[in-house]
Amino acid sequence: MPERIEWLEDGTESGAPYSPRFDDRYRSELGGIEQAREVFLAGCGLPAAWRDQSQWRILETGFGLGLNFLVTWAAWKADSSRPKLLHFVSTEAYPASAADVLRSALAHPDLLPFALQLQAQLWGLLPGVHRLVFECGHVLLTLCIGDAKAMLKQQRFEADSVYLDGFSPPKNPDIWDVHTLKAVARCCRRGTRIATWTIARAVREALTQSGFILKKTPGIPPKRDNLRGEYNPPWEPKKPVHHTATQARRPATCVVIGAGLAGGAVASSLARRGWQVTVLDAASAPAGGASGLPVGLLVPHVSPDDSQLSRLSRSGVRLTLQQADALLDRGSDWDPTGVLEHRTEGSSKSLPRAWAQSWTDAAADWSHAATAAQLEFAGLTNTDAALWHPRACWIKPASLVNAWLNTPGVTWQGNATAASLAVTHDGWQVLDVAGSVLAEAAMVVIAAATGSPALAASVNPLPLALQAVRGQVSWAQHEAEQQGLPRFPVNGHGSLFPGIPGPSGLRWMIGSSYQRDDEDLAIRPADHLENLARLQALLPATAATLASAFRTEKIQGWAGIRCATPGRLPVLGRIATAASGAEVWVCSGMGSRGLSFAALCAELLAAQLHGEPLPVEYQLSQALMPRLRPALRSALAA
Ligand SMILES: Cc1cc2nc3c(=O)[nH]c(=O)nc-3n(C[C@H](O)[C@H](O)[C@H](O)COP(=O)(O)OP(=O)(O)OC[C@H]3O[C@@H](n4cnc5c(N)ncnc54)[C@H](O)[C@@H]3O)c2cc1C
Repeated sequence: MPERIEWLEDGTESGAPYSPRFDDRYRSELGGIEQAREVFLAGCGLPAAWRDQSQWRILETGFGLGLNFLVTWAAWKADSSRPKLLHFVSTEAYPASAADVLRSALAHPDLLPFALQLQAQLWGLLPGVHRLVFECGHVLLTLCIGDAKAMLKQQRFEADSVYLDGFSPPKNPDIWDVHTLKAVARCCRRGTRIATWTIARAVREALTQSGFILKKTPGIPPKRDNLRGEYNPPWEPKKPVHHTATQARRPATCVVIGAGLAGGAVASSLARRGWQVTVLDAASAPAGGASGLPVGLLVPHVSPDDSQLSRLSRSGVRLTLQQADALLDRGSDWDPTGVLEHRTEGSSKSLPRAWAQSWTDAAADWSHAATAAQLEFAGLTNTDAALWHPRACWIKPASLVNAWLNTPGVTWQGNATAASLAVTHDGWQVLDVAGSVLAEAAMVVIAAATGSPALAASVNPLPLALQAVRGQVSWAQHEAEQQGLPRFPVNGHGSLFPGIPGPSGLRWMIGSSYQRDDEDLAIRPADHLENLARLQALLPATAATLASAFRTEKIQGWAGIRCATPGRLPVLGRIATAASGAEVWVCSGMGSRGLSFAALCAELLAAQLHGEPLPVEYQLSQALMPRLRPALRSALAA
C-alpha cells in the first residue's frame, strides 16, 4: 500500500498533509513551496550555481510529496542558462501515492503542469532505484525507494547540491543520524553545498563530524534560522576507486557502429548530453538487423526470487516506455495494451514471494495474476495459469531506432561496413576492409550485435562470448473484426500479436523460432509450422482459427538473428583505452530483449562516462558491466 496520508483542514484547497506514521506534518509552517524556494534552492545558491554547467546533480533525503523536486524542475525550466541535464536523486522509505503527490501540488497552479507529469510516472515503486524521465531526457529523477543509508550506498555519483529534508529529527531520527549524514557526505565533492531547515544541535554535530562547514542563516518569520553548509572536511576524503574512475567528462565526438536498438539508444543518450555522434551501419537503412523485427514485446521478466534479470528488465521496461511515450505514435508505432503471459509450464504463483507480503499495489502495477475476464478474452479458462502485465506493450523496434537516430547531434551513415579500429593520437579511426577511414572520433561504441566480436578483436584479444540465435516470425493480414483473436498480445512459450497496423491493414503475428548458431535469413516453411505448434500450446482456440492461413500463400515471414550472451544479460563495458584516454566500449548481446535492455544500457553507459547517478542499483549495474578489460593502454601506446 502507498503511505497513508491524512489531509487536515487548513483553509487551503488541498488541506495540510499529515503523516500518522511519524505524527508530523509534511510541510513546514511556511508552506512547502516557500520552504523549497527559500531553504533549499536559495540555500544551495540555485539557480545561479548551475548556470552554464553541462549538468547539475542534486541529492535529496526524503522525497515526501515531491515539492522540492517540482520547484527545482520549474526553476530549471525558467532559467535560460540552465544546465543541459538536471539530475535529482531522492531517497524515500515510504512513497506516497501518485494521487497524494498531485493533491499536494493543487495549491500551486504554476507547479500543476509539472505535478501532472510527475504523477503519471509514479507507479510500480517497489523497493529499489527507479529512473523517471522528463523534458525529453533532460530532467532525470532517480527515486531510491528504501532506507536512505542503504540506498545511498547504492549510488556512485558526486552531488553538486544536497537538500536535507524529512520529518523533524525527534519524529524521524534515523534520517538525521550521523550514519545517514556520513552516507550523504560520501556522495559529495569538496564544495558541494547543503541546505536544510533544521538547526537541531544533534544534526549540526553530525554534519560537522561528516565534514560539512555550517552556518545558520535567517529564516522567514516565524522561523528564526535555517542551516546552510559546504562539504569541506579538514581531512582528505577517502573516495572509493570508482569515484576517480568515473570523473565527469566533457561531451566530445563518438562513432557508434551498428544502427539497431543498441546503437540507436547509445547515440541518443550521448547526443542528449551534448555529444556529436556518427552512427555507421553496414545496411542501407537503419534497423537492418534484428531490430527490423516487424513488432516486438516490451514486457517485464518475472521470477519467484526476483532475479537480476527480472529487476533489470523492469528498469529497462520503464525507460523504454518513457521513450516510446515521448517519441512514438501510439496506435501505429506502439500500444500500451497490457500483455497476458500464459504460463504453459509454470503457474502464476511464480510472482516474487515478497510481493505478496507487502508492496502489493506497487507490484500489481507491474504484474499480477490474470483476471477471469482477461483469461476469457484470450480464449483461456480459469484453470490456465497466467499473469497480466498492465504496463507491457508492443513496439515496432525500427520506429524507435529511427526516432533515436533523429536526436539532434546524431548523424547516420549507411552502407558503411566496419572491419577494424585503429588508434590515433587523440582518438580512434573506424576502417573498412580496404583500410579506408569510414569515420573517426574521440570514442567508439561497438553495437554491431553478432558483428561485434570481430570488431572488438581489433582492439582487445579477449573474446566476446556472443552467440547468434536465428528466429522467424509468421504473419498474415486480418480483418478489423476477426473472430478468435484476443485484444492484446499474449506471450509465454512463443507469442501472438493481434491487430498490429501495417501498410495495408491489420496483421497478426506469431513468434518465434529459436535456432542457435544459425545465421541463415531465408524464410523456412518448417519454421512457420513450428510457430503454429507454439500457438497451439499458447492459445489453442486462436490456433484453431488461424491454422487455415498456414495452408495458403497468405502466410508471410520475417527472420532475424538475435545476439545472445550465455547469462541472458547484455554485455556493456569498456574494452580498450588508448594512451590519450580515448575509449572503446561494447554494447551488445541484447538477446531476446533488445526492447527492454537497449535504453537501459545506453543510459548506464552515459552515466558511467559522466559520473552521473545510475538508473539502477550499483550492484545491478555491475551485472551488465562485466570487467571486459584489461584495457590495452600500454599496448596501444606502443
Ligand atoms: C524473431 C525475433 C523475435 C524477437 N522478439 C523480440 C521481442 O518480442 N522483444 C524484444 O525486446 N526483443 C525481441 N527480439 C530481439 C531484438 O530484436 C534484439 O534484441 C535487438 O533488435 C538487438 O538490437 P541490436 O542493436 O543489438 O542488434 P541489431 O538490430 O542486429 O543491430 C546490429 C546492427 O549492426 C550492424 N552491423 C553488424 N556488423 C557491422 C559492421 N561490421 N559494420 C557496420 N555495421 C555492422 C548490422 O547491420 C545491424 O544493423 C527478437 C528477435 C528476433 C530475431
